[in-house]
Amino acid sequence: MNFEYSDRSKALQEKLTAFMQEHIYPLERAYDDFVHANEWQVFPELERLKQLAKDAGLWNLFLPEEYGEFSEGLTNLEYAPLAAIMGKVYWASQVFNCSAPDTGNMEVLAKYGTPEQQDKWLKPLMNGEIRSGFMMTEPEVASSDATNIATSIVRDGDEYVINGRKWWTTGAMNPNTKVFIVMGKTDPNAARHVQQSMIIVPADAEGLKILRPLRVFGTHESPEGHAEIELDNVRVPASNLLVGEGAGFKIAQGRLGPGRIHHCMRLIGAAERALEMMCKRVTQRSTFGKDLSQYSSIRQEIAKSRCEIEQARLLTLAAADKIDRFGIKEAKDLIAMIKIVVPQMACTVVDRAIQIHGGLGVCQDTPLAMFWIYGRSIRIADGPDEVHMYQLGRNTIKSFN
Ligand SMILES: Cc1cc2nc3c(=O)[nH]c(=O)nc-3n(C[C@H](O)[C@H](O)[C@H](O)COP(=O)(O)OP(=O)(O)OC[C@H]3O[C@@H](n4cnc5c(N)ncnc54)[C@H](O)[C@@H]3O)c2cc1C
Repeated sequence: MNFEYSDRSKALQEKLTAFMQEHIYPLERAYDDFVHANEWQVFPELERLKQLAKDAGLWNLFLPEEYGEFSEGLTNLEYAPLAAIMGKVYWASQVFNCSAPDTGNMEVLAKYGTPEQQDKWLKPLMNGEIRSGFMMTEPEVASSDATNIATSIVRDGDEYVINGRKWWTTGAMNPNTKVFIVMGKTDPNAARHVQQSMIIVPADAEGLKILRPLRVFGTHESPEGHAEIELDNVRVPASNLLVGEGAGFKIAQGRLGPGRIHHCMRLIGAAERALEMMCKRVTQRSTFGKDLSQYSSIRQEIAKSRCEIEQARLLTLAAADKIDRFGIKEAKDLIAMIKIVVPQMACTVVDRAIQIHGGLGVCQDTPLAMFWIYGRSIRIADGPDEVHMYQLGRNTIKSFN
């Protein structure tokens, strides 16, 4: 394992850091204030920022080199530190067209899409012209076990007819979201892991109805939002099916590997920022005749945070490196480990930073509250902690028997 970053990665880290300093940090608060005051509207400066990022060559960096013409040529290990830099501002990754759920959807379309599907949906996504959503989770079934998914996808002549109810579809409220990838069952009688398929559904398809946005810890996370959605006899051309009937699980597995590296590295960036904020704050506030930085309990919180961030970073880089060298399947235990460790670490570190900031830490004047919401949500989204522990525990026991 070699974590000496390539020259290309180092140069991009420098460039991205400079871009963040010049263009993103100055607008950090304005973005947050705008989206809280103007629900479901996109921050007016966003398109300008995206164009600047494109012009600077900081665009679509997430797709690994094996994606050929679609990739900017980075490995997962080279991209990982860039995701951490973007993660320091909770909304920044979209400026570089590197935000979930589009990244996962673009990866699916680049890997499994037909030339027609790529032309219609991948190109505008990669150009940043549209956004997208991924519909798997359903309110009626325990969706952390994806074999429970009940939405039906039934062939009818040249079309598929889709019926079901989804929720937690991130991005569904964004006015620029034009397409969804939907997971459902094409054959409930097939073997357990080949009952499911994935299909492309345009956001304006007849019968697709957004029922309501869901709040996450009291915020709508506008403009992306997370919606509950009804699919009532939605008809799409049969050519919208991805790969073929029964391929849903296989596609879902492939989709989540690099996506977990991205989430984890963004959370590491958020935790680093929280640590930096803690370190500054404790030299600016005094209680009982001493700077906060003089208290042993405060120093311990800071020291523990530093250790935990570094541990989490090394584990995540190890996972990225293993994906690069041996593929997602071989890296599955490390991917499970980071999904268990990193969001929990980010919540802990951010929580310490909140505590050290007092009342300031829970209000909108720092990014800490949004960081915590992100970390806490990721302990559930993309598979709850327990599911990863369940699988990692099983694999670990097996490895000794
Ligand atoms: C902010 C946010 C964004 C999301 N975005 C999307 C999205 O874009 N698209 C999408 O399809 N979904 C999305 N989700 C949904 C998310 O992926 C699901 O909530 C998650 O997979 C869990 O499914 P569930 O809610 O049905 O919980 P359930 O399956 O009902 O599980 C509930 C709890 O049971 C426990 N549990 C489950 N299995 C085990 C086990 N083996 N051992 C011990 N305990 C266990 C866990 O504590 C788990 O949290 C999002 C969720 C959130 C919070």
